[in-house]
Amino acid sequence: MTPSDSSTQVVIIGAGQAGLSVAYYLRRFELTPGTDFLIFDRGPRAGGAWQHRWKALKLGSAHRVNDLPGMAELGVSFATADRSIPAKEVVADYYARYERHFGLAVRRPVDVERVFNRGPDLVVAHSNGETTTRVLVNATGTWGSPFVPFYPGMGSFRGRHVHTSAYVEAEQFRDQNVIVVGGGTSAIGFLLELEGVAAELTWATRRPVDYRDEQSLSVEGGIAAVAQQDAAARGGQALPSIVSGTGVPLTRRIAAGIERGLLVEREMFTRIEPDGVRWPDRSFSRADAIVWATGFRPELRHLAPLRLREKAGGVHVESGAAWLDPRVFLAGYGPYASTIGANRSGRVIARQIMAQL
Ligand SMILES: Cc1cc2nc3c(=O)[nH]c(=O)nc-3n(C[C@H](O)[C@H](O)[C@H](O)COP(=O)(O)OP(=O)(O)OC[C@H]3O[C@@H](n4cnc5c(N)ncnc54)[C@H](O)[C@@H]3O)c2cc1C
Repeated sequence: MTPSDSSTQVVIIGAGQAGLSVAYYLRRFELTPGTDFLIFDRGPRAGGAWQHRWKALKLGSAHRVNDLPGMAELGVSFATADRSIPAKEVVADYYARYERHFGLAVRRPVDVERVFNRGPDLVVAHSNGETTTRVLVNATGTWGSPFVPFYPGMGSFRGRHVHTSAYVEAEQFRDQNVIVVGGGTSAIGFLLELEGVAAELTWATRRPVDYRDEQSLSVEGGIAAVAQQDAAARGGQALPSIVSGTGVPLTRRIAAGIERGLLVEREMFTRIEPDGVRWPDRSFSRADAIVWATGFRPELRHLAPLRLREKAGGVHVESGAAWLDPRVFLAGYGPYASTIGANRSGRVIARQIMAQL
């Protein structure tokens, strides 16, 4: 830890799209990175959560990845990036260049363990010591908080439970019987990748998949999802899944998968047994692995001492600011949880921070 790390005006936790975007705007307001504000990230290198995603995920295979603000200065754009190499590599490369170009001086790996009050200041306790700050921006995303729903018998399963966050590549499942759970684009991506590699593939979802007749996420779908997330954040409620607002665009690749009988979902199983799963009609499928593409929750455990959580299960957040503590901002949270939303939250939050300092 350098001497300037023990106290600062603003601490940003997380150097993904949301944290970098806030940093960019703070710099535009003439705060100096490394002294006026510090960014801590526990990842080993640049790239936010993208550095951990699976190899087969390419730009364009999920939704659109928006450029960071000011990225045009570097002469690169995700819109024109190479789509044949893994998204994790492209994003990590562009973010690293971005951090260097704007001199953002991200401290890594620094794992933030707890944030608590000390008089009028906030103390950020992390793997390198403690930093006192006037303002905190939490931009920790969701990747570190995988969600797996509970089903009876889970613990008795002799095969592997693999959540999206632990999925590496289809080869992990060669010649195995695999059940994929989840109704979003990640589950569909896994099924398409596992076809012809796994011995048998079964897809289970809690609700019928909500296909939308479009080639990519529509503006209307995006707006509806953002409004749904915003209402939950303002109500201090747990956030709904993104796919419940956007639905799944029925791309040509997905339509072809349905046509050839690969993408046919069935109702969730009722219990897990040592060698497979039991369906509502009491039939049984043998399984070597269950892939849980069941999403993530916002990663907020380290903020517990600040007691921001409402009885309704979430944090009350309006325009990126925590309602119960005006010194705390949540970037990339709720309505801002996409790469375009993360950019927007950067601008909105940086303006409010400047008004406070
Ligand atoms: C499988 C998948 C595919 C997606 N595809 C798209 C897409 O195509 N387009 C799109 O717009 N969005 C997509 N998203 C949503 C996407 O994650 C966000 O849009 C965006 O990348 C999130 O940025 P972020 O900065 O909020 O979080 P992240 O990228 O997760 O960054 C958070 C950072 O915080 C750090 N961190 C977390 N906790 C701590 C801690 N306690 N201490 C220190 N550091 C910490 C992490 O190391 C990480 O670097 C996808 C999400 C998933 C899960």
